[in-house]
Amino acid sequence: MLISTINHVIFRKLLLAWYQSHQRWLPWRITNDPYKIWLSEVILQQTRVVQGLPYYERFIAQYPSVTALASATEQEILRLWQGLGYYSRARNLHHCAQTIVAQYNGIFPTSYRELLTLKGIGPYTAAAIAAVSFKEVVAAVDGNVNRVLARIFGLTYDIGTGKGRKQMHQFATLLVDQIQPDIYSQAIMDFGALQCTPVSPCCTACVFNSYCIAFYTDRQKGLPIKTNTLNKRVRYFDYFVLQYKDLLYMKKRVESDIWKGMYDFYLVENKQRWAVDQMEDPLLCLVKKHRLSMVTAAKEAAHLLTHQKLLVKFHKLEVTAPFLQEAHALFNQLSLVAFNRAEVEVLPKPILIQNFLKKLDPV
Ligand code: SF4
Repeated sequence: MLISTINHVIFRKLLLAWYQSHQRWLPWRITNDPYKIWLSEVILQQTRVVQGLPYYERFIAQYPSVTALASATEQEILRLWQGLGYYSRARNLHHCAQTIVAQYNGIFPTSYRELLTLKGIGPYTAAAIAAVSFKEVVAAVDGNVNRVLARIFGLTYDIGTGKGRKQMHQFATLLVDQIQPDIYSQAIMDFGALQCTPVSPCCTACVFNSYCIAFYTDRQKGLPIKTNTLNKRVRYFDYFVLQYKDLLYMKKRVESDIWKGMYDFYLVENKQRWAVDQMEDPLLCLVKKHRLSMVTAAKEAAHLLTHQKLLVKFHKLEVTAPFLQEAHALFNQLSLVAFNRAEVEVLPKPILIQNFLKKLDPV
């Protein structure tokens, strides 16, 4: 590993000077309210600022305090979160707000260690809150920070492994400004987001370019090192969209699986792609018996999640009154509930379902 000639003092000095003239004016940057810092950090995990900002503003408008958030229902939170994905974040947000109200009287714990004990608050978020709100000298290390440090200092730790992430975290901790950990944290995040970007870093106009190992060795693309250990699990979904007049039959997802607490259509999942008439399913048997016509989308939709790839087919079915009469008990057993379009609109739904509904003919 090549060693950069930059020392920690110069690094911090250059970074803080850069931040003074380049910082982004974001609503969570003009406050040290831990509720707002926490909310912004949770929203911005896996989400770009431009996409997350309107969500942040809607949440703050509707739930201006942790107490207000705690008193909402999970369904209300999921509905407001709709479109951001990674819905476990929204459920954890709600759960965490309730814990802060119940156990801490609505006041955020002030130390990194205590924050880390709360559900849904991981090392990065705990460090960001502790540093920005309470000026604790801790390193909040996310993808931006890994990239900046790996490139400038030529670090070859493999952040695809637990060991590599730990080494990077130790390195990052040594750099944190002891007097202004709050400003430092925000500065390094913005530097990674604006200057030292993943694909096209602005090296020629960079304050670090006379020290940066990646720039010197033309390794911007190769740093940080991250071996890909993630094998996405492929799942085959067939959604049956049952319509009767202006009603749609939907189901709340209650299992410990993706999209828990949200609503989707009747789902048949298989380990491989089957034709509908090859599927053994009680509801489809009734569909066949009543000779209901089915319209299947021409294209299979691919929906990517962090650890999964969903291959999805939608089938539309206009159901009849005799069918509904015979299927009544089965619908109860399957927890399929009829909603009119206005009711469907306010249900929390995965974006995949929301996009399908947008294209569904109005009744
Ligand atoms: S010189 Fe390029 S790679 Fe190095 S820190 Fe600056 S932007 Fe990043």
